[in-house]
Amino acid sequence: MSFNALLIEKDDAGYRASVKALDDTQLPEGEVTVRVAYSTINYKDGLAITGKSPVVRKFPLVAGIDFAGTVEASTDPRFAPGQAVVLNGWGVGETHSGGLAQRARVKADWLLPLPAGLTPRQAMAIGTAGYTAMLCVMAIEKHGIAPGSGDILVTGANGGVGTVAITLLAKLGYRVVASTGRLQEADFLKSLGAVDVISRDELSAPGRPLGKERWAGAIDAVGSHTLANACAGTRYGGAVAACGLAQGMDFPGSVAPFILRGVTLYGIDSVMCPMPRRAEAWARLAKDLDLAKLDTLTHEIGLSEAIAAGSDILAGKVRGRLVVDVNR
Ligand code: NDP
Repeated sequence: MSFNALLIEKDDAGYRASVKALDDTQLPEGEVTVRVAYSTINYKDGLAITGKSPVVRKFPLVAGIDFAGTVEASTDPRFAPGQAVVLNGWGVGETHSGGLAQRARVKADWLLPLPAGLTPRQAMAIGTAGYTAMLCVMAIEKHGIAPGSGDILVTGANGGVGTVAITLLAKLGYRVVASTGRLQEADFLKSLGAVDVISRDELSAPGRPLGKERWAGAIDAVGSHTLANACAGTRYGGAVAACGLAQGMDFPGSVAPFILRGVTLYGIDSVMCPMPRRAEAWARLAKDLDLAKLDTLTHEIGLSEAIAAGSDILAGKVRGRLVVDVNR
């Protein structure tokens, strides 16, 4: 059976992404074949589609680090035809063909049943960025930071991780300070629940080892000086959840916040995150995310538009989340 897929190729003709018709023989190994309904464009998908970073490590490969859809066939008893499922990470879209396609085949160990209360489209409006935002919120909570503890900084506020993090934190009762390079979107960020919006210029340049204690916790999708300054501005005993590198992969900070203020830095990885924590994150998303707000931060595109969207997300031009209807 033929199906459309966003294929990444690399050979003598160079690195390229294009929508191609594939057939079943081109599906990878795996126990479960899924009819994909939606996938998304995350920052990492942008890197994969453009080839700006070596995300794709096997060629040819179908892009797409996440998908939601319906099981078509399964040789694993945990999944039955007709069942709705969601997938994030595990190297899908990197070393194993991914979700930006009408069909995908993956290991049963990688799949989660779609949480009750979410449609496949909503699950992908959340996508890997939103699920990572939830992992960050869970880290802050488990540290003991409660809504009354003080402000929570969210950097990269207009991006996928940022918008979902703000929406989640606001519903949970936290007071959110959003840091953005797009101050013209301040009203949008406030509509999601941010109380204050600050310019990312306040955080993106080299700063002091310790700054004024401004927030109880932070969720950082940006890395580099922004992460260092987020740590330097965290109150005594607070915590920072670091998940991203939109500004840079470096961490030009000092140990001062850790050894003088007892600040904790949590590293957040969505790709190899163990199943129980994933299941918890998805269950929490189904319960704690305002789905009406999710709609306002989501824009839908078709598979053929995904290639241009890959460049747009790296250029910081995407607001919120891009969900991809792979069947158009
Ligand atoms: P987006 O592109 O949607 O969001 C990133 C945001 O960061 C932008 O919208 C922008 O926000 C801000 N930004 C962009 N460039 C810069 C810059 N040069 N300096 C400072 N801020 C910048 O990406 P995602 O939300 O999908 O992902 C965010 C980050 O998290 C990425 O680095 C991604 O790789 C990482 N990530 C990591 C995961 C993990 O498992 N650890 C999982 C998912 C994502 P604004 O315009 O508001 O300033």
